[in-house]
Amino acid sequence: KVTLEFGGPTRVVTVSNQKGGVGKTTTTVNIASALALVGARVLVIDLDPQGNASTALGVPHTADIPSVYDVLIDEFPLAEIVQTSPESPLLLCAPSTIHLAGAEIELVSQVAREHRLRTALEDYLAAAPEHIDFVLIDCPPSLGLLTINAFTAANELMIPIQCEYYALEGLSQLLGSVRMIQKHLNPALHLSTILLTMYDGRTRLAQQVAEEVRSHFPAEVLRTVIPRSVRVSEAPSFGQTVVAYDGQSAGAIAYREAAVEIARRGHTHDDEENN
Ligand code: ADP
Ligand code: MG
Repeated sequence: KVTLEFGGPTRVVTVSNQKGGVGKTTTTVNIASALALVGARVLVIDLDPQGNASTALGVPHTADIPSVYDVLIDEFPLAEIVQTSPESPLLLCAPSTIHLAGAEIELVSQVAREHRLRTALEDYLAAAPEHIDFVLIDCPPSLGLLTINAFTAANELMIPIQCEYYALEGLSQLLGSVRMIQKHLNPALHLSTILLTMYDGRTRLAQQVAEEVRSHFPAEVLRTVIPRSVRVSEAPSFGQTVVAYDGQSAGAIAYREAAVEIARRGHTHDDEENN
């Protein structure tokens, strides 16, 4: 059994990639679940109107349920919407509802529109009855105001990359957005982690993509890669992460290893100058 020490400054990690279907949500909920399994208290913020992270964590998110929408638009305290996942008392989720689909446009005319999530999160963390070790933010597949709110609230960026053709396409646009955020909204944001997902080691293409990403980002890419596995894609239909659904499957094992790597790395290099 792995023993890790938690209790340090809260790490706020935004899981982003403007491409859809690269494994953002799967990565968010499984890393969160795996971190909770080794004793970290984790809050997942579901910032995607699809609400897939809320579903995978078994958290109700029908239209009548208070959600991240109310936090961003009506300034509800985050504490009023946070639920505990049935998976673990250490695993919390701020759910998304379908209302969030309108937030992207409604935010445009709001005061401090880029800072709304950050302010809500700071208030929440300052008053949280128990220390939160990680906040993981599941982003929608765009670089709009919801993602900008995540970038402004976070100190770390984690990018899941699908080991397929075009994997690196769009990455320079994503990193360009991050530089804009660093300059104008949040100097603390930095790329800390890249995770290779849906890896099929039998194909030469997957190996080539993995090599190419590693050569560009030697420090950021985790050693662990997440294999393509049916169990991973089945788990959400049971309202579970694969870590809970089939803990001995290859996908669950890989996500647990990735989570330990992330926890061990702690705050990365650039953090010293930001603190
Ligand atoms: P995103 O949030 O980036 O849109 P998802 O996490 O929803 O991506 O993943 C897209 C699809 O791929 C989902 O149907 C998911 O179940 C599936 N998937 C993700 N990771 C894996 C994996 N390692 N093996 C098999 N299917 C996966
Ligand atoms: Mg998603």
